[in-house]
Amino acid sequence: MIQAHAQENTSSISAVFDRHSVAAGAITGVVGDPVEHSKSPLIHNYWITAHNARSIYAPFQISNDNIKQFLEEAPRYGVKGLNVTTPHKQAAFDICDTVSERARRVEAVNTIVYDRDGRAHGDSTDGWGFVESMKAGADWAPAKTRALIIGAGGAAGAIVDALAAAGAARITLCNRTAARAEAIAARYDARVVLGPWPCSPAEVAEADLLVNATTLGMLDGDDAGVWRAIFDGVRLGPGVVATDLIYAPLQTPFLIAAAAAGAATVDGLGMLLHQARPGFALWHGVTPVVSDALRALVLAKSGYLP
Ligand code: NAP
Repeated sequence: MIQAHAQENTSSISAVFDRHSVAAGAITGVVGDPVEHSKSPLIHNYWITAHNARSIYAPFQISNDNIKQFLEEAPRYGVKGLNVTTPHKQAAFDICDTVSERARRVEAVNTIVYDRDGRAHGDSTDGWGFVESMKAGADWAPAKTRALIIGAGGAAGAIVDALAAAGAARITLCNRTAARAEAIAARYDARVVLGPWPCSPAEVAEADLLVNATTLGMLDGDDAGVWRAIFDGVRLGPGVVATDLIYAPLQTPFLIAAAAAGAATVDGLGMLLHQARPGFALWHGVTPVVSDALRALVLAKSGYLP
């Protein structure tokens, strides 16, 4: 069945191959379930055109039942590399023949490159993308930062890892389900500490980096009251930066509440764009940049404007 699915995808990709004279073995893409919302095809095909890379980047919707077989067989269909999104990052970690140090620490893979023998090499670029986005979007550096991270899912885990590796002074984790925050903290030294849920204005006032890594505030959610309570009476000093991993909408209730309390803000789109760069570099041998034009394209095609 997976073979049929993969062939189905491959044959439709072949049609694109023919139109664009793409070299065989140059297929890249993103695999997830669902995957139609993914912005990765837009981003990678923009860079493919910009760098004249003879390649295409396609979405693959694959279920939990079929993901292991798909990832193992993909190189046989000419796939050079893949991004992996929800819910398959752990499955990707499991099938990889080798993984980067950071992927090993977070036990998740969002980027795969297949070598000539079809062996899969995995990386986790979300945390790196987060740090790059913050550096690009604000006067901020990770060393010595005191971070408050709200949420303890996969994205929070990657961010904790990147901040800890980059020399953060303290990382406080507040999550609705305490066990998930405890599991992340257990992987690191005493700089990673647990806070209460919901976190209080006291935790907010002690941080210089505030991160919403929950899904609270996505389109159609109405969670502004949560954030108003957390920021109640807080006046943040200069140099405090807040960011939300959510990028639809771009201005989230969390960012609006943080800005009202005096924080500089960075939206979540930058992380999405920056985390894509290492994969493109691995597959095509050139490191792409996150330009204003790319950002504008993604915003325009997504239907949510700044
Ligand atoms: P995840 O593993 O499913 O974690 C979801 C998190 O949200 C958990 O901490 C969960 O708490 C919390 N949460 C969900 N509903 C909640 C509620 N009603 N009240 C309180 N907390 C709630 O997801 P993820 O992969 O970490 O992603 C988290 C967010 O980051 C998503 O919005 C995702 O789209 C975004 N993201 C953005 C980027 C980017 O490039 N900008 C990259 C990755 C992820 P519990 O543990 O208690 O369930």
